[in-house]
Amino acid sequence: MSHAGDLLFLLCSIQPSMNQFGATKWIDESRQGTALQPEEEASATSSRKCYIESYGCQMNFNDSEIVAAILKEQGYGLTTDAAQADLVLINTCAIREKAEQTVRKRLQEFKSLKKNKADMLVGVLGCMAERLRHRLLEEEKLVDLVVGPDAYRSLPALIAEAESGQKAVNVLLSREETYADISPVRLNSNGVTAFVSIMRGCNNMCTFCVVPFTRGRERSRSPQSILRECEELFEQGYREVTLLGQNVDSYYWIDPQTQQATTFAQLLEMVAQINPWLRVRFSTSHPKDITDEVLYTMARYPNICKYIHLPVQSGSTRILQLMNRTYTREGYLKKVERIREILPDCGLSTDIIAGFCTETEADHQETLSLMDICEYDMAYMFMYSERPGTLAARRYKDDVPQEVKKRRLQEIVEKERTLALKNMQKEVGKVRTVLIEGPSKRSDQDFCGRTDQNKMVVFPKKHYRKGQYVNVHITGCTAATLLGEVVEETIPEMVT
Ligand code: SAM
Ligand code: SF4
Repeated sequence: MSHAGDLLFLLCSIQPSMNQFGATKWIDESRQGTALQPEEEASATSSRKCYIESYGCQMNFNDSEIVAAILKEQGYGLTTDAAQADLVLINTCAIREKAEQTVRKRLQEFKSLKKNKADMLVGVLGCMAERLRHRLLEEEKLVDLVVGPDAYRSLPALIAEAESGQKAVNVLLSREETYADISPVRLNSNGVTAFVSIMRGCNNMCTFCVVPFTRGRERSRSPQSILRECEELFEQGYREVTLLGQNVDSYYWIDPQTQQATTFAQLLEMVAQINPWLRVRFSTSHPKDITDEVLYTMARYPNICKYIHLPVQSGSTRILQLMNRTYTREGYLKKVERIREILPDCGLSTDIIAGFCTETEADHQETLSLMDICEYDMAYMFMYSERPGTLAARRYKDDVPQEVKKRRLQEIVEKERTLALKNMQKEVGKVRTVLIEGPSKRSDQDFCGRTDQNKMVVFPKKHYRKGQYVNVHITGCTAATLLGEVVEETIPEMVT
């Protein structure tokens, strides 16, 4: 049994971030702390069992699937019961302090499991590895191995070292590693939608963010390996891929033979051309980098979903400068205007941080007014949490009192709820194409799937199938879900 239920309760009660949609993408709170789930529990043929628990953003969950692929080669089967495992791995997130605290608590629990199973190995993977390796490994003796996000290929050797009683560590960051040749084992999957990492790391230096320190320099994966993975997914029955990167618009790959460059807009087009029945999404776009070329490519292909996640972080130019986001309020609003011009029916979501260093009431009001102008469909909303080693931690004082941060976050959440509901209500009466993802959570008589604009729709199952596109007449809504009836099956057209 995974402790997902307990952790969900813990995360909800902490409320480090909030969002409206049950099926959003980047940081899905309902998935935090869940164990990677095998199609069937590790069978008798697997000589050893591994338990992998994951935290953080979608890229981290994807990394866990790469780890599962590497371990499968070594004869490990997966289990969702940590007590049964020979190897317990926790793939960590360092974005906010609370995530780190949760991981430490889990490691204490694994330590007590080890008392009954002396040869069980416990390892920490991912973003917390570099910063906490000394404490976790040597001081608190909580774990046997510590492996950074670019060192997963060395896992078999590290496990062997740990088995021989040594402390096994590899937290080296790489300028090249993209795991391009490893096909992730897709386990907690609905068989219809999949995530594909197209790049790793980040070269931006947003002052609040640990990612450049924990995941290293930005590097892009070859278009050939991305296309191969997407084609394979399509052949396996998947009908939607989401291309993932911290800043997808700076995707840039140079062919070592021909010196020819591939940009994100070109990659997007290549993936869209795989098959008109394959929907394409992407995340995350950086407001300073998203280009007209990307927007026009989206407009040309009906199978590129009209939905953009464009994190703003704050509506105040002064705060954006302190965050080193390299755009102003006006610059951001111009990008949004451009999106509305080129893609009039595009869904828009964002990330917002409440209570960054020196944020005044006037700055906060600017965030609220920007939300009104952008009319977001959805937002991930966070209280600022100082992260050791970041530029903000070194340069600025975390001086907004916790109570004020909380109240501002609440106001941002209320604003988001109002905007989201308004946007959902606008959908009522329209007919939208929906890709069926599977049974609805509430009733096995209903299916659920998302519109192009990433809105979840629930409708009666009838004779339809998972993975099928249907046109749904929207008849009602809540703030998070649209309700409807299928009016016809649909065939998307490919524009050349
Ligand atoms: N690369 C993406 C971008 O630039 O928009 C976002 C990556 S980050 C994993 C996801 C979100 O976490 C950020 O957009 C930000 O809102 C939030 N975040 C990052 N560091 C944070 C911090 N120290 N405190 C609160 N929220 C933070
Ligand atoms: Fe962090 Fe900024 Fe890079 Fe996003 S773009 S991962 S917020 S440094």
